[in-house]
Amino acid sequence: MERAEIAIIGTGPAGISAAITAKARNKDIILLGSNNLSEKVSKAHEILNYPGFPEISGETLAFNLKKHLQHMEIAITEKKVTAVYAMDQYFGLQAGGDMVEAQTVILATGVVQDKTFPGENEFLGRGVSYCATCDAPFYKGKTVAVVGYDEESEREADYLAEVTGKVYYFPMYQREPEVTDAVEVVRQTPKEILGTLKAGTLRTDTEDWQVDGIFILRDAVSPGQLVPGLTIADRHVNVNAMMETDIPGLFACGDIVGRPYQYVKSAGQGNVAALSAVTYLSRLKQAQTKGKSSTNS
Ligand SMILES: Cc1cc2nc3c(=O)[nH]c(=O)nc-3n(C[C@H](O)[C@H](O)[C@H](O)COP(=O)(O)OP(=O)(O)OC[C@H]3O[C@@H](n4cnc5c(N)ncnc54)[C@H](O)[C@@H]3O)c2cc1C
Repeated sequence: MERAEIAIIGTGPAGISAAITAKARNKDIILLGSNNLSEKVSKAHEILNYPGFPEISGETLAFNLKKHLQHMEIAITEKKVTAVYAMDQYFGLQAGGDMVEAQTVILATGVVQDKTFPGENEFLGRGVSYCATCDAPFYKGKTVAVVGYDEESEREADYLAEVTGKVYYFPMYQREPEVTDAVEVVRQTPKEILGTLKAGTLRTDTEDWQVDGIFILRDAVSPGQLVPGLTIADRHVNVNAMMETDIPGLFACGDIVGRPYQYVKSAGQGNVAALSAVTYLSRLKQAQTKGKSSTNS
C-alpha cells in the first residue's frame, strides 16, 4: 500500500499549486489525478485573466503547469479516487483498485458536472463556456445564449449583456428571473447543442436558436459522495479561510469549495491548503511525541 504525508486529489490548478507548495516544504506527497491535468485548463481557448500571462492558451498553460511539476520532480499517480475514509489519525483512499494511506488529504477535484446536454462536451471551449467572466470578451457584439441555474447566473447574464450584442436567457427554474431589460428571457427547455466546427445552435423543446456562444452556468454537484460525513453547503465543500474542512486533516481548495470558478483563485487556495496541511502535520507530530514521552515517564 502506498503511504504519504499529504495526498492531493486532482490535477487542476488547485491540486498542482498544492503539490508545488507541499513539495517545496519537503513533504512526502502523492498527487492523484490525470496525466492530462484538467480539461478545464487544456480546453480553454484563450485565457486573459491569469496574472503574468496577459494572453495564454489553455494548452500552453497546461504545458507550463506540467513542466513545473517535472521541474520539481512531482509525479502524477494516474488514478481516480472513488472514496476517502477518515480513520483515527490517517485517511484511507480508494484509488482505482488500490488503497492509499495518508496523514492529511487535500481535495482539489473541481466541480463535477453530472448531466450534460448532448453536444456540450464536444463543443466545450468551442462555443460552449462555463464562465462568463472568463469568456465574455470573445463574444463582443455577438449573440449568446445563457442557460442559468440560479441567481448568480442572472448576474452573469447581466454582465454578458454589457459586453455582447444580445443575450437570450434560459432559466432552468420556475422563479421569474431578475435580469436587466437588456437580457431576453426565453421560457423554453434546452435539449441539445449543435454545430460544425463550433457550437452554433441551441435546440430547445420547441425551437432552434442560432447563437455565437452558449454559456452553461450550472452549479456544483455535491462532493459528499466522495467523502462520507463531509459537510456540504450549497453543493460545495464547507471550508474556512485556511481551507480546513470540518474533518481534521482534510482540506479542500479550488472550484470544489465554491465560486468564483477561476484559475487564479484555485491556485491561490491550493497554496493555502498545502500550508495548512503542513501546519497540521507538525501539530500531529508534536502531539505524538508528547504522547510517547508521557507514556515513557
Ligand atoms: C472552457 C473553459 C474555459 C475557462 N476559462 C477560464 C479563464 O479564462 N479564466 C479563469 O480564471 N477560469 C477559466 N475557467 C475556469 C477554470 O477552468 C476553473 O476555475 C479551474 O480549472 C478550477 O481549477 P480546480 O483545480 O479547482 O479544478 P479543475 O480544473 O476542474 O481540476 C480538477 C481535477 O481533478 C480531477 N479529478 C476530479 N475528480 C477526481 C477524482 N475523484 N480522483 C482523481 N482526480 C479527480 C479532474 O480530472 C481534474 O483534473 C474555464 C473553464 C472552462 C471549462
